[in-house]
Amino acid sequence: MSLSGKTAVITGSNSGIGLGIAHELAKAGADIVLNSFTDSDDDHKLAADLAKQHGVKVRYIKADLSKPDEARGLIAQAGVCDILVNNAGIQFVAPIDKFPTEKWDQIIAINLSSAFHTTAVALPMMRKAKWGRIVNISSAHGLTASPFKAAYIAAKHGIVGLTKTTALETAEEAITCNAICPGYVLTPLVEAQIPDQMKAHNMDRETVIREVMLDRQPSKQFATVEQIGGTAVFLCSAYADQITGTTISVDGGWTAL
Ligand code: NAD
Repeated sequence: MSLSGKTAVITGSNSGIGLGIAHELAKAGADIVLNSFTDSDDDHKLAADLAKQHGVKVRYIKADLSKPDEARGLIAQAGVCDILVNNAGIQFVAPIDKFPTEKWDQIIAINLSSAFHTTAVALPMMRKAKWGRIVNISSAHGLTASPFKAAYIAAKHGIVGLTKTTALETAEEAITCNAICPGYVLTPLVEAQIPDQMKAHNMDRETVIREVMLDRQPSKQFATVEQIGGTAVFLCSAYADQITGTTISVDGGWTAL
């Protein structure tokens, strides 16, 4: 299956799951637009290396997705967007009565509203091309909740709702929209939580991973960025032409509990 001739814009893709998805889509032949809010030499080197490794065109476009104009500008600047992967996301953990308002606003802006803005600009491009795929990265926390992650969980549930609405608005066209719901994937976002969890639970790294972080992941293994990327490639393939408006969990059994 080849995605040759298609261009994929992946938000928040200079790291973690976004970069993993970029690798898998590039391996399948798609040209790639990488994005983050930084504009460093490393970002542009990442794009050059990805292009070289997979023999596809790769651009890096800086856009701070907490800002609606920049989220819309990312897709406008890309100029073409056959595949849109809304992946950018951040986390903050605090009880609701102590949750800083600015953190709530930032998480809703980056993890939820940016996907509305990018989708709004990408859909006319997909309609013109008579084909499109939107893959939204939600979470096991888009289907279940945990304490102290109010903004993240609200945003990830919101992404599932946006996914369903987008799917219904495009149902008669060759455009699909689905959400991938990963369980824990060992990325910088998760790695950064380990020292705090070790301190909070007075446990060593291995114990905190198994008993705290993967407590709700029955497989007791992290999902990998390659597995998330492969799921995105499947959703972009012809096999998935009739899959729209749904969620696909890659969570080692978390949501079966
Ligand atoms: P990560 O921190 O490695 O990557 C997050 C990406 O978002 C980075 O590229 C970062 O630069 C980008 N980003 C952050 N703020 C941005 C902004 N204002 N504008 C543009 N880009 C911005 O984290 P990750 O674990 O790879 O997470 C990627 C997505 O997967 C997130 O939406 C996250 O919620 C989701 N997710 C992760 C896990 C997990 O266990 N890692 C589980 C479920 C869902």
